Amino acid sequence: MISLIQITDPHLTENKKTEVRSWNTLSSFQRTVDCIKTNENPDFILVSGDISEDGTKKSYVAYQKGIERFEKPVFTILGNHDNHKNFHAVFGTKFSSVEKITLSESWLIITIDSTSMNKESGHITKQQMHSLRKLIANNKDKSLVICLHHQPIKMGFWIDQVGLENSDQFIASIANQSNVKAVVWGHVHHESESALGSIKMLSTPSTCYQFCGNAEKPDTNKPGYRKIKLFKSGKLETKVVRID
Ligand SMILES: [Zn+2]
Repeated sequence: MISLIQITDPHLTENKKTEVRSWNTLSSFQRTVDCIKTNENPDFILVSGDISEDGTKKSYVAYQKGIERFEKPVFTILGNHDNHKNFHAVFGTKFSSVEKITLSESWLIITIDSTSMNKESGHITKQQMHSLRKLIANNKDKSLVICLHHQPIKMGFWIDQVGLENSDQFIASIANQSNVKAVVWGHVHHESESALGSIKMLSTPSTCYQFCGNAEKPDTNKPGYRKIKLFKSGKLETKVVRID
């Protein structure tokens, strides 16, 4: 069994004391790392974008310091708030638009960069969609988790105005593909679990502020992360853990 943890949307800033929506995002991120270090023993960590609020190099340095403490492989994708150039400058690695990550003989993660220049909403290009379909077709004997920043389905609140623009094409590419076991995303700062046939569709709370999905009510849900257990048989179990 492989143990994977997804964290998302830390929204770190250049100045460590800057609050975003009344949150000190750095201390909230650090508490999340502490909580995972204390209570979990994941094999891998997956981070699904909006690493930074302001796209600054300093915010990525703070992130780097945080994830180093895991002492585990961490896979990061970027979100609409991120700055690819500054992320590269700090991490020194190119960020690929579609990537296959091998976790074991039986499990793969496919990451997709759904960001589009200067836009809050997301988009998957023709080329990316082609690569995704090819990876799904060429890995029929594996189990796949797909990760992107933007939500590919409707969440039922205002965040849907800035979701994945061509979600219909994405859904058509994965529907009825029995090797696709789950799709996970960030961006919505909100926990949800639904199904597309046998595929689990999962959104995960941010490590900082939450969107509750109801404009009438304040967003009082706590930060959190998602635990995902991947079994050799292709079975997947998951749950969200909240942090005080
Ligand atoms: Zn976010």
